[in-house]
Amino acid sequence: MLAAPLDNPALVIFDGSPAAAVAVGLLAQPERSVIWVQQSQQDPRHTCVMGCAAAMGDATGARVLTAAVVTTAGHTGGDPLAASVLLLEATRVAYIEGLSQVVQGVAMGDEGIAAIGDVVDRCGLVSGLAQIDIHSQAPDDDITSLAVIAPLVDLKLAQVAELFEDLALPRAAVGICDRAQAPGCGACAGCRRWTSALQVASERFDVAAVL
Ligand SMILES: [Zn+2]
Repeated sequence: MLAAPLDNPALVIFDGSPAAAVAVGLLAQPERSVIWVQQSQQDPRHTCVMGCAAAMGDATGARVLTAAVVTTAGHTGGDPLAASVLLLEATRVAYIEGLSQVVQGVAMGDEGIAAIGDVVDRCGLVSGLAQIDIHSQAPDDDITSLAVIAPLVDLKLAQVAELFEDLALPRAAVGICDRAQAPGCGACAGCRRWTSALQVASERFDVAAVL
């Protein structure tokens, strides 16, 4: 599977998920981009996600920034208001950093069309709000538009795994495990889903089998 690179320098909202890692991997200008990690003291996975972000930073040259705000939002599902607040904060940081694009690295293909629609709607809403804000506050600034996009939103986990393999991303960049630091315990539900998705992806790209 081939995916178009993300041409513009961007802020990628990063949660240690495979899709978030792939989103960073697709950046055409990672050295000018930011991996943005949400601050969440209550989240026992925070240390793990920070480790994943550092692994992606090392692999790509992108800078890791930690969010100043603490929200209860995950990237998806849960509280829609909190998810919008998270996106708005991401656009604010992107603007300060001189970045014209916010990338939400989520893949909702396994969750169904309604979940995909929710993410797309939220991105559109926040893009619109950011646009109004930029035009009213900083007409002479470098950034004249700011878009929130979710380029992987309709992909299933298996398709994300294919991209992950294609891009040769570090296993330490994915913190999908419920119990342990990346690369995970290998036994929990999260680990098993991701391992089997990677397995299918690598079988599909087994060069020896094709020749
Ligand atoms: Zn695990």
